[in-house]
Amino acid sequence: MHILVTNDDGVAAPGLLALARAMRQIGQVSVLAPDRNWSGGGHVKTIDRPLRIKEVMLADGSVAMAADGAPSDCVALALLGFLPEKVDLVVSGINPMPNLGHDVTYSGTVTAAMEAVIWGHSGIAFSLDSPENHLGVLDYGPAAEIARRVVEIVLMNSLPAGILLNVNIPYGPLSEIQGIRMTRQGLRVYRDRLDQRVDPRGRPYFWIGGEAPTGIPEPGTDVGALSEGYVSITPLQLDLTAYPALHRMKTWQWEMGEKLGEHVTAA
Ligand code: MN
Repeated sequence: MHILVTNDDGVAAPGLLALARAMRQIGQVSVLAPDRNWSGGGHVKTIDRPLRIKEVMLADGSVAMAADGAPSDCVALALLGFLPEKVDLVVSGINPMPNLGHDVTYSGTVTAAMEAVIWGHSGIAFSLDSPENHLGVLDYGPAAEIARRVVEIVLMNSLPAGILLNVNIPYGPLSEIQGIRMTRQGLRVYRDRLDQRVDPRGRPYFWIGGEAPTGIPEPGTDVGALSEGYVSITPLQLDLTAYPALHRMKTWQWEMGEKLGEHVTAA
């Protein structure tokens, strides 16, 4: 069992080390992660510049690889041949903040697992629902233990092709975690606010700031499971097609008149 571990917080993040150590209990681990923080970086393919990889040491003295690309670049690098040995599973995290609902499109943690699916591998993203404005060191121990159990269960059952898992874990001791729930994506409530400021040369600049997002804790969703103290596991697929809309819109009259109609047809 050869497991690739990556993240979006950068190779020095404590959540990565916690996940790598948990995965070493299951099999051989290779770490290839970004050399800096890519949180919120989304699904990236770096094509306009070369990518470089260097060997680094994690806080426990183990060897890891750091690349100057995005999390998804790291996964592509590993799976397209940088790692000579076949990879059986890609895991990403542990992200210090949860990735719920629409977050999955922003999340470097989740898009790393999406990249694994693109190359025909299984991918699992792990995120921790740590308290807002937490000061000091986060305890990734319980989440790493949950990650180990989740991976073991996945390996016993094998993921369907084309499916990645988005796992969100409550923050706190194992004894307080209620269990595991399979969920669907819930609804995030983003509270972003545009902050316009002026630089020392009198030119305006912008920050997208505001309060952290909340969510609607509907039963059956990722937001709902976390709010009740459960680990949330959401199976995701990259086919974003809106099938009800597709079927409905196929009945629309798409012919665009004589001038354009020669070239525009709907299947
Ligand atoms: Mn992150």
